[in-house]
Amino acid sequence: MILPIVDGADTAPFWDAAREGQLVVQSCGDCGLLRFPPGPVCSHCRSARHEWTPVSGDAVIWSFVVAHGPTLPEYAEYTPFPLAVVTLAEGPQLRMVGNVLSGQDARLNSFGADDLAIGDPVRVAFRKLADDVSIPVWVPALPAPGD
Ligand SMILES: [Zn+2]
Repeated sequence: MILPIVDGADTAPFWDAAREGQLVVQSCGDCGLLRFPPGPVCSHCRSARHEWTPVSGDAVIWSFVVAHGPTLPEYAEYTPFPLAVVTLAEGPQLRMVGNVLSGQDARLNSFGADDLAIGDPVRVAFRKLADDVSIPVWVPALPAPGD
């Protein structure tokens, strides 16, 4: 797998929390708006003050695509696999891109396009890619029918 850059000036706290199994987003130090992706300035009030705030990890699928080949070589063996944009429960401005898996350690293609729907509830899980890198992935919040 290709590893994300986890020591960026604006993103290191996000990856530090993910490594510990916690999902965090920035909250504006002046107006309190929660924001993701992280950045140096609030899009609402232009404040440069911010904190990192834990969020629940509850989300719904806002949209998704199914990746077919050609992909980067590192992902070719998993095609086709879904990639989703999820909306966090804490606000519609909080959207994250990630894999939707049947479990945190399942293969990238553990779900197909017919297994997912916009609006499906999901919950964050953390997949360890390296000793110092864990990434958020999304797993069903409810048991699959028949489970
Ligand atoms: Zn603000």
